[in-house]
Amino acid sequence: MSTSSPSDDAFIDPQVTCSTCRACCCQLEVILMGDDSVPRHLTLEDEWGGEVMRRLEDGWCVALDRDTLLCTIYERRPGVCREYDMGGLACREERAHLDAPPAVIPLVPLASIALKP
Ligand code: SF4
Ligand code: SF4
Repeated sequence: MSTSSPSDDAFIDPQVTCSTCRACCCQLEVILMGDDSVPRHLTLEDEWGGEVMRRLEDGWCVALDRDTLLCTIYERRPGVCREYDMGGLACREERAHLDAPPAVIPLVPLASIALKP
């Protein structure tokens, strides 16, 4: 018997796959944790002194291969990315923007993130 439903936060939709996505979640701000070991040149210090994945002007994380839409640091990707469930609630909410005009996709302005020296 199923213990979750589409209305549950814990529900994982088995129909969802990254192969039909445009790496929506790789446009979100990714905050690094202490045990992450991402190459430093791919990160920035945010205005609060935290370390985040750097993003380019197209909005995507710098570590995303723009041709394949695959993560180029998959084995060293941050914990936040590892814990992001394909088909989970956050994933489904991001995918809901797939058919929307790019302007409505919520992005953290790059201007709010300072480059590391
Ligand atoms: S985890 Fe979800 S939002 Fe991220 S690329 Fe895969 S399907 Fe898209
Ligand atoms: S590190 Fe990889 S999985 Fe995480 S946001 Fe960047 S490209 Fe996506």
